[in-house]
Amino acid sequence: MTRLAALLFVSLLVLAGVTHAEEAPRPIRLNQMGLEANGPKRAVLADASKSPLDWTLLDASGATVASGKTKVFGDNAASGEHVHQIDFSSVRKAGDGYRLTVGAAESRPFALRARPDGKLTKAALSFFYQQRASVPIEARFVERPDLARPAGHAPDKATCFDLADERGQVWPGCDYTLDASDGWYDAGDHGKYVVNGGVSVWTLVNAYERAAVLKRPGALKALGDGSQALPENANGVPDILDEARFELSFLLAMQVPDGKTLQVPVGKQKPVDGKLKLTAIDASGMAHQKIADRNWTGLPTSPADDKEVRYLYYPTTGATLNLAAVTAQAARVWKTIDPAFSARCLEAARRAFAAALRHPDIYQLGPFTGSGGYGDGDLTDELYWAAAELYATTGDANAEKVLRASPLFLATSDISWGSVGALGTITLALVPSGLKPAEITQARTSLMAAAGRYLSEDLGQGYGLPYAAPGYPWGSNSSVLNRAVVLGLAYDFTGEIAYRFGAVDAMDYVLGRNPLDRSYVTGFGARAMQNPHHRFWARQANAAYPAPPAGVVSGGPNSTNMGDDVAKTMKGQCKPQTCWTDDYRAFTQNEVAINWNAPLVWASAFLDDTMR
Ligand code: CA
Repeated sequence: MTRLAALLFVSLLVLAGVTHAEEAPRPIRLNQMGLEANGPKRAVLADASKSPLDWTLLDASGATVASGKTKVFGDNAASGEHVHQIDFSSVRKAGDGYRLTVGAAESRPFALRARPDGKLTKAALSFFYQQRASVPIEARFVERPDLARPAGHAPDKATCFDLADERGQVWPGCDYTLDASDGWYDAGDHGKYVVNGGVSVWTLVNAYERAAVLKRPGALKALGDGSQALPENANGVPDILDEARFELSFLLAMQVPDGKTLQVPVGKQKPVDGKLKLTAIDASGMAHQKIADRNWTGLPTSPADDKEVRYLYYPTTGATLNLAAVTAQAARVWKTIDPAFSARCLEAARRAFAAALRHPDIYQLGPFTGSGGYGDGDLTDELYWAAAELYATTGDANAEKVLRASPLFLATSDISWGSVGALGTITLALVPSGLKPAEITQARTSLMAAAGRYLSEDLGQGYGLPYAAPGYPWGSNSSVLNRAVVLGLAYDFTGEIAYRFGAVDAMDYVLGRNPLDRSYVTGFGARAMQNPHHRFWARQANAAYPAPPAGVVSGGPNSTNMGDDVAKTMKGQCKPQTCWTDDYRAFTQNEVAINWNAPLVWASAFLDDTMR
């Protein structure tokens, strides 16, 4: 080995993170990114003692800064532990190197931060750039050279699926090809799904719209032009909108051209003799559910090396309403930024909304191998959301009629890709529209009521997070982070600090105050997730591939769908908050996804913006 080769080898080892040994877990758990000097400060200790224990807070020099007694929470069902809570919120002096001790237990050193550094928000948003399809990921925009890669799926053109599905039903295909280039790869795979793209775009655009409507100069700057490492970071347009537009460009391309008749399953069907009944419909203006690979690729696979044939899958009402909602939102937000783009989005929104009203019951039914489903049997919330966005943008009378007739009018429920009613209510609560002032108040009251429920749940959790569930679902970290969005807006609308503390609690849990002593966000914290289920950030599978960039959130503990080979071995062995492994094979626990990173961006930007 020459000296140069030896140097290269050592560099590769460093790049591959081989030299990084993982920190051992500790019994005192807290946000591994540090805590706000003027905010709430809580740590959790797992300890069998039934009586309060003495805690001491030391500064970097080892001097005692504060001391007190733990609060015995008791048995914590979500983690299967007996836990104590430590509240040292009264300490407000910023600094590095603080440590908490309880008997022989000692926390890692941590910081109390006087002001935000914006790093998490920026890194979390960079995830979307690095998920871009059809363009090269350039070394100058990423944190390490090995994260650069050639363009995948350039261009991303496909016609409709015309082969046999998993049941053997042969699909009829279509007489056109769409160029559905750009957009973000959905998750660890290379599929691009209109349904999940919708909630993700909405969340990023809403982070900007919140800042614009509420006139938050700090947030506008943090998300503004020049804030990100992006090809579009000097174009005069806020960078978070540039990123969202990259996905909108793909979503717009998924709309069925006018005059096209397609064979689709209408209604809630069960296959008869292995076949769905297909009916010819005028599909003009509907949106294809997804563009995806014919077969699953293995890990690792760089996007540029994906040799699978791509197909468009039949349009659904759910995808069509997602398209209508986010293009209506975009028409509003880009109105003065880019009037031509705004007009194009509005036209797409009107066409999609009309198409969904014409065909209200075309559901995603599978199964097609090679991609996920995002099937949703209840589109009441998608219809309400699309109507709300269109109404807020245009005052359209038909949208208003649909809106007011919805059982979800001004209601709030948990946000997820398949539950988007709250997005409509948030828009109606935030954006001036033709609604009566009392109705806007009602929308805000509804969000506050949901936020209040989340705070009640927080009180019942040993780890003090605004989320209670007997079982943790797939992507549970996003369930927690989406609650931070609602808590954040409740704080915005009322100034009531308890709501903000709830959002801090959500982030504290995701960044380390949890029974695994784990930061679920790469690059942030002493024990950050390192081995996601991802076809390119696949160092654990193959050292020739890169470790993940910073700012990527893991789906998190999943005790309700333990379908991968790693999770299967854990069945019955873990509690909801501990059903998680930092292993690339554990796709039910450790995948990453656009709809999970989006609320991380929102919550991080909100906390930075409202830090005191
Ligand atoms: Ca820009």
